[in-house]
Amino acid sequence: MKILTIIGARPQFIKAAAVSRIIENYPEITEITVHTGQHFDKNMSDVFFEQMNIKKPDYNLNIHSLSHGAMTGRMLEAIENVIIKEQPEIVMVYGDTNSTIAGSLAAKKLHKKVAHVEAGLRSFNMKMPEEINRILTDRISDYLFCPTKQAVENLKKEGYENFNVRIEQVGDVMYDAIVYYQKFAQKPNFSLPDKFILATVHRAENTDDTERLKNIFEALEIISENLPVVLPLHPRTRQKLKQIDFKPQKTIITEPVGYLQMIYLLNKTQLVITDSGGLQKEAYFMKKPCITLRDETEWVELVEHGFNTLTGADKNKILNAVEQMLNKSLDFSIKLYGNADAAVKIIETLKQDKF
Ligand code: UDP
Repeated sequence: MKILTIIGARPQFIKAAAVSRIIENYPEITEITVHTGQHFDKNMSDVFFEQMNIKKPDYNLNIHSLSHGAMTGRMLEAIENVIIKEQPEIVMVYGDTNSTIAGSLAAKKLHKKVAHVEAGLRSFNMKMPEEINRILTDRISDYLFCPTKQAVENLKKEGYENFNVRIEQVGDVMYDAIVYYQKFAQKPNFSLPDKFILATVHRAENTDDTERLKNIFEALEIISENLPVVLPLHPRTRQKLKQIDFKPQKTIITEPVGYLQMIYLLNKTQLVITDSGGLQKEAYFMKKPCITLRDETEWVELVEHGFNTLTGADKNKILNAVEQMLNKSLDFSIKLYGNADAAVKIIETLKQDKF
């Protein structure tokens, strides 16, 4: 069986690594990897291949730094060529990026089976490019691998039980990844305070809105007066801060870190403040409270159980939430994202179906 894996952005390298590691145990499966090039800098791409010991992509399409339409369109065309050449049985896509929708659309129109990992998630905010990508990808997928019960419920509500698709609740491949890779955690090469808050900001809804971006960074500056904030800065956010001429003085700004450094930081931090989808869950995996700088989240179970609180980009809400979350006692024993065997379940499901 030949699987063509489409990846392109930082979180996809981590998710696909968890699955590729398992595929290696199946000699009857060949995996061909296509890197669309969406993330291309050394610290946004190469570092993940090196640190997670994953084989270099078989194809690198080198498509990046374009508008949504141009990027998705060029990916669609290039991925189509690869699929025609490779003739895989399955095209595997991850998450909710432009690479995800381009890969699934190219595959489906060539009548290939599409497997979507992280299916069924909904933020119900149609202004988010990620929401559009995930809804459209789900609709043309044959295998919908859901990380949570809620994701399965979302699909049922949208009528997916009436479609000729296979829906499986397998757990979260990011949990698989962190369980395996945490023993390799590495200290970053910058000095760290004894106690700190770990923050990341990169979502378009925050970076493309000057008011929101300023509110968030002003809040981080105030928080830093009591407890240092360490923030590995996404290139998009760096560029936007420069455009609006905002220079954080107290927040400890670093380059983006590798995944193994990220795990180290997660392990040491008191609290996570983020707008990242992945980091919300990783905070919980590492038993840390989280404040999410968004108005809604697709990871609703974290909010329902009190591990995560939503503040949007409201400065006062962020400041109050820090106080509240640092003093909250949380019981992390409940398992919300499976048993770290999502990748095995995915591959076993694909194997069961005869092609
Ligand atoms: N991450 C990382 N280094 C960083 C920031 C994030 O390794 O400097 C990891 C993080 O641990 C998570 C993933 O990248 O696994 C999340 O990516 P991102 O926040 O870019 O995307 P999202 O999850 O919001 O789609």
